[in-house]
Amino acid sequence: MADPHIVRKIIAGEEDNIWPCIGATYCLDRIYQGGEALCMHNAASGRELTMPHDIPPAKVKKKVVIIGAGPAGLEAA
Ligand code: SF4
Repeated sequence: MADPHIVRKIIAGEEDNIWPCIGATYCLDRIYQGGEALCMHNAASGRELTMPHDIPPAKVKKKVVIIGAGPAGLEAA
């Protein structure tokens, strides 16, 4: 769930780019409570109908400032 592209990345020899499961079991906790299987490491997992896994580059480039170096900030950067 954390990286839906894991097989493609392994075949392509891109193991260093695999987004690993961090084992926090948020997904399992949600399932056991009757909720959707969501992933705390990949917001798109379980939300594919509204949130694509692949985000195309913006058509118009802008300069932005990324504040924060947590998972979201690092991914955005
Ligand atoms: S929610 Fe946590 S344990 Fe479940 S797949 Fe995502 S990273 Fe792994």
